[in-house]
Amino acid sequence: MKVGLITIGNELLSGFTIDTNSSWIGQALIEFGARISWHLTVKDDSSQINSGLDNTPKDCRIILITGGLGPTHDDITQNTLFEYYGIKPVFDKEYWELLNSRMKKRGRSLPEINKNQAIAAEDGKGRIIPNSFGTARGIHIFKNDIDIFAMPGVPKEMKNMMKDTVLPWIYNITKNKIHVNTLRTTGIMESSLAEKMRDIIEVSKNIEISFLPQFTGVDIRIMSSKKAPLDEAQRIINERIGKYIYGTGSDILESVVGKMLIEQNLTLSTAESCTGGLLGHRLTNTPGSSKYYLGGVNSYSNEMKINVINVKKKTLDMYGAVSKEVSIEMSKGVRKLLKSDIALSITGIAGPGGGTEDKPVGLVYITLIHNDIIINKEFTFFKDRLINKQLSSQVALNMIRIYLLNE
Ligand code: ATP
Ligand code: MG
Repeated sequence: MKVGLITIGNELLSGFTIDTNSSWIGQALIEFGARISWHLTVKDDSSQINSGLDNTPKDCRIILITGGLGPTHDDITQNTLFEYYGIKPVFDKEYWELLNSRMKKRGRSLPEINKNQAIAAEDGKGRIIPNSFGTARGIHIFKNDIDIFAMPGVPKEMKNMMKDTVLPWIYNITKNKIHVNTLRTTGIMESSLAEKMRDIIEVSKNIEISFLPQFTGVDIRIMSSKKAPLDEAQRIINERIGKYIYGTGSDILESVVGKMLIEQNLTLSTAESCTGGLLGHRLTNTPGSSKYYLGGVNSYSNEMKINVINVKKKTLDMYGAVSKEVSIEMSKGVRKLLKSDIALSITGIAGPGGGTEDKPVGLVYITLIHNDIIINKEFTFFKDRLINKQLSSQVALNMIRIYLLNE
């Protein structure tokens, strides 16, 4: 089923707000057998909204609209829709009183300007879409065989209306649930994945495969209207590139690693230099991480490396802070200090400056130590500081994952 989308808001066009509503809606629809086939962003301006409605392709069975349902002067979406579809606005006294009593409970009064939030469509011409997170209600209009759903621009409110009202309504019509799964990979390039999976992509008629690359890894999205071909494709992909897949759906690498550490009853500590604590931050993003993550030392300076985690001055002088030798001493030192089973260290040149011919920007050493086992790796990443930090933390986490897989 084809869906037209109109996102409304001056701030979307000026670039101050990124239109995250459209990407969220696009993804949410797929599972229900519907797709955005046309999308327009317009200003809070009735003539632009009218022209958007005039120009929505006729094969769109549904038009979704977000933005401009609030109480301020620039929120004109509802009025514009009422005029466009010839609907008489009526004042919903009950809702106005409900809003007032809610405000009173919080010891505040509702400004008159909010009165337009209690405007509804005349009987039989439009249904209200409830809003459990805000005061602006949505509206569902049916006209000329097309269903129009207008929702607030606030992402949280829009998502809630989609989940509670719009998506179940779409499912009722399409009775079509598309099976979607995402395989999350890291450590392999998009082109290599495409190469390894070429035959599956080319031959399979029942599934659609797409690659969603980011610096830290590539997500593989598989879609099918039937479950069996999706499972089969997933089985083959797992067979071929299983070791690069760290999770499915919205799994994150730090949580996957955390789960493995719990399963194997192991603790972890970290010593970071160029990532400045990012690895520790990521590890502690997972609730319950205190079960396995003991802590880390953000040993950015040489003094910290020497005084806190016992890196030898001689090693620093001889090989430099960004070296295999220092990386190994960092891991050894923090492991001893925090008495963890495993220690992980990162030292590198994040850039943009600081590189030499021998040691270019993006050079990173990562060391994992567990008992007598020392795994040290050298990488040359990019010229961008933040990307290098993100990549280093990702690769370090993946090093633990691969190590624990083989345990
Ligand atoms: P409000 O009651 O807050 O006025 P509204 O329905 O009038 O709600 P807008 O005024 O258009 O919505 O936007 C409210 C907030 O939601 C703003 O902070 C805006 O930046 C954000 N927003 C609006 N549209 C989008 C969008 N397409 N993607 C992401 N954020 C958005
Ligand atoms: Mg507004």
